Amino acid sequence: MVDLRAYGLAHALSVPDGARVGRVRTQHRIDWEMVTAAGDVRAPLPNRKAERPGVGDWVVLADDVDVITAVLPRKNALVRRAAGLREEPQQLAANVDACFVLVPLSGPPNVKRIERYLALVLDGGSVPVVVLTKSDLCASIDEAIASVRTVSGDAAVHAISAQTGQGMAALEPYFSNDATVALLGASGVGKSSLVNAWMGEEVLDIAAVREKDQKGRHTTTRRELFVRPAGGVVIDTPGTREVGLWDADEGVDDAFVEIVSLAAGCRFGDCAHTVEPGCAVRAAVARGELEAERVERYLRVRAGTASRAARVGRAKRR
Ligand code: GDP
Ligand code: ZN
Repeated sequence: MVDLRAYGLAHALSVPDGARVGRVRTQHRIDWEMVTAAGDVRAPLPNRKAERPGVGDWVVLADDVDVITAVLPRKNALVRRAAGLREEPQQLAANVDACFVLVPLSGPPNVKRIERYLALVLDGGSVPVVVLTKSDLCASIDEAIASVRTVSGDAAVHAISAQTGQGMAALEPYFSNDATVALLGASGVGKSSLVNAWMGEEVLDIAAVREKDQKGRHTTTRRELFVRPAGGVVIDTPGTREVGLWDADEGVDDAFVEIVSLAAGCRFGDCAHTVEPGCAVRAAVARGELEAERVERYLRVRAGTASRAARVGRAKRR
């Protein structure tokens, strides 16, 4: 038997008595993986018109078959607004008590990006917390925090390092009483390292490791909802890129995951990887670890998606 309280059941709204309930861990194309009191279940919806749950949702299953009969009312939901005109908005996480906005300290924090993430979290009805990652790479943490505070409003700001453990203890209270925390951030910010540190084992692959074994990051479905041994639930949202340009950028970043991960080490958060000092991408090319042509392709494709996104933006304003 699984104790669903560890999965945050006490925080769920209006759970019907005696119903067979589950919390969605992973969404597949036509069905959902969820944890129930009797263990993990994979179940579809009864028909195409039924409301589709997302990761973090509590659902009711039929008594006798593994079919989702209802999505319980959600307290809040983080939703990615589609950049394309025809695309559906995508629900990233539901029923979250706080949302960590992850931004790396490998360069000056990108405050514009933080503003957009905060807007998304507040829009979804959750509590944003700015978590500056890789603090071990930053010589002036106080300065970085001060610059983030100019845009963070009421949101708390923490600096942490998954590698050294620095600052990690300050995040513990967000998980108390089996609370659920969602993680938002571009790939390469150190999300997997953070989840692995909390879990005490390698539940998610670290980008640098993947580079060597040549496996695509998304070839296997990754688990998205975890219960920490120390208590509390973590929801890892799919690698979110630039807020607002997400959908346009995502495919590109997924295809060039090793460049995106290297780019997290560039001195400037908005490095174009052309002439900027402290560019980690060009440094890798210089060391012979990355093909120059591949970087050129990446920049070309990115420029294409950026102008496409601008066109969509203009079309929307009209
Ligand atoms: P994700 O793409 O957000 O899941 O990020 P990963 O956890 O895969 O990390 C991306 C890269 O950043 C890897 O090379 C990690 O080793 C590195 N990294 C992650 N956390 C830290 C940290 O706290 N300090 C430093 N210096 N590097 C880190
Ligand atoms: Zn660069």
